[in-house]
Amino acid sequence: MSYRRRVKWNLVIAALSALAMFFVAIFIIGQAVWPHAAEPNTCSEPEVLSSETEQSSQPEQSGMINGKTFRVSSDAIYSGELILVNEQHAYQAEESEMISVYSFKNDSYWVKDKNVLVAEQLAEPFNRMMEDFSAKTGLDDVMVISGWRDPEKQTILYHDDLAETGKTDSTLVAKPGYSEHHTGYAMDLGLIQLVEGVGRSYDGEGDYSWITEHCTEYGFVIRYPADKTEITGIDYEPWHLRYVGIPHAEIMKQENLCLEEYVEFLRNYGWESPYQIGDWLIYWQQPEKTESGELEIVVPEEYSYTLSGDNMDGIICTVSLK
Ligand SMILES: [Zn+2]
Repeated sequence: MSYRRRVKWNLVIAALSALAMFFVAIFIIGQAVWPHAAEPNTCSEPEVLSSETEQSSQPEQSGMINGKTFRVSSDAIYSGELILVNEQHAYQAEESEMISVYSFKNDSYWVKDKNVLVAEQLAEPFNRMMEDFSAKTGLDDVMVISGWRDPEKQTILYHDDLAETGKTDSTLVAKPGYSEHHTGYAMDLGLIQLVEGVGRSYDGEGDYSWITEHCTEYGFVIRYPADKTEITGIDYEPWHLRYVGIPHAEIMKQENLCLEEYVEFLRNYGWESPYQIGDWLIYWQQPEKTESGELEIVVPEEYSYTLSGDNMDGIICTVSLK
């Protein structure tokens, strides 16, 4: 082999190894700069993991609980804790049973007389709330002054208010048939007159703001808030409590919705995509009318639930996942 040839061979080997090193370098840089492009297989792994975590944290969502059809009376739309009664929606349920506040009250509050009636569901949570209020503030001078009202009594109140204000319409007293007080889920608070002749009205201020702030924990809402008067059509009434139950009162507080807005909000959550909060699922449905006049709805097969109409055209189901 001549010297020239050897040099040529060396050149070829050198060129080849330079080329090889160049490709190795490109490969390493490629790995470092575009790790995902170079490793297409690893992409599927985090996807699988994330869908697994999602599944374990939300096992009951998207119609994943088993349901069955269930028939309720046509009256079901117009009764229950979430019915919306306002100027546009008259109370139309058949009479439901009321109990006297006097019959269940504890020592942490007062009631005007034995004729103040409310729906039975309010008794336990209201007692508990007033007990906690009394323990926190040392006060026991709150008095329930009004609960359930029949339409005749509302007629008197309504005309009294018109006479007093000289107006043709009232922003303080609802029209007979259109008052929340017909439901039995509303109560008005006052303060007992501790000194003869010195009347005090309940304004939800000072120590009493505890009730305004905490009532949702017991299933109550301030039904006519100051920032919703345009929607409710009623002036701010800190003394008017409405029972909607748990978890609805808490959601209304969280989302800052009055009842008009809340029942509208729930229409977005059907059986297939319920609203989930903690251990609760909530869904709204428009029932099918059967030949017999009954309404057909879907209810959970394995979980306990409560039903309430919205007083318009739907039924709200509240499912406890506990
Ligand atoms: Zn009231």
